[in-house]
Amino acid sequence: MRWGSSRGSSERRLPSTDDARSLVSPRGYGDAMKPVTELDASAVDRYADALTEVARALAERDVTAARAALAPIAGEVWEGSLKRAGTRNSDGEATGERDVDDAARARTFLGDGMRCTYCGGRAIPRSILVAMSDVFPDELPYYWRYKTGTVHPAYWAVAAEADHVLAHSAGGAGDDGNLATLHVACNTIKSDSSRESMPVIEARPAPEGWDGLVSLYAACVLAGNSRGARHHAIGYHTERMKHFGVSAIEPEAAPDQR
Ligand SMILES: [Zn+2]
Repeated sequence: MRWGSSRGSSERRLPSTDDARSLVSPRGYGDAMKPVTELDASAVDRYADALTEVARALAERDVTAARAALAPIAGEVWEGSLKRAGTRNSDGEATGERDVDDAARARTFLGDGMRCTYCGGRAIPRSILVAMSDVFPDELPYYWRYKTGTVHPAYWAVAAEADHVLAHSAGGAGDDGNLATLHVACNTIKSDSSRESMPVIEARPAPEGWDGLVSLYAACVLAGNSRGARHHAIGYHTERMKHFGVSAIEPEAAPDQR
């Protein structure tokens, strides 16, 4: 287990910006982080491609191949100017999502074909990304508060959230018909009045058959039973798998409890 103990003891690979990178999450993901401050036009596809390969390898129970698939994006951490507004609940959802329950969120994602309704690109439920972060906590950093310097940019570029088509403040209700699937980054850009100055998110349209990696969710959770570290209490994935109609392969567990 590397994280936590090695910080400060080994030489940092990247010059400067040490102040920013010392803003590590409470778990202490330390050195070897690669700060990312912009999401370029290829970000959605780059992360979706890599994470699809990671999940496929985990489904083959080939952790070595999964780590290799993750290598091109491993250790990246978001330090850009996009910031999620408002308060968050314990699931890391921003204010706009607060009254959206997990089941409604899952139905929204499934109904939208796991596509971002803003940019059309592939979207992946956050919980499935978390399952991969559980297996690779150093390579794919995650912290539910989304504090700058603690989460991998994939949690911005491809993680899905369900937001109101009609803003809640404008009378939108929390029922499914009023919800739409959006990338976290796209939702932030969409809802920000100064979005002209925000980066443009572009993505290839999600291909036919894209399922947001739902069919590989159980395999990712299983891999986290025996390696890495859970980011949420046991039962987090079990509940969310149910919402997506996924059966667990083995009961969810934490590696340090086995
Ligand atoms: Zn999008």
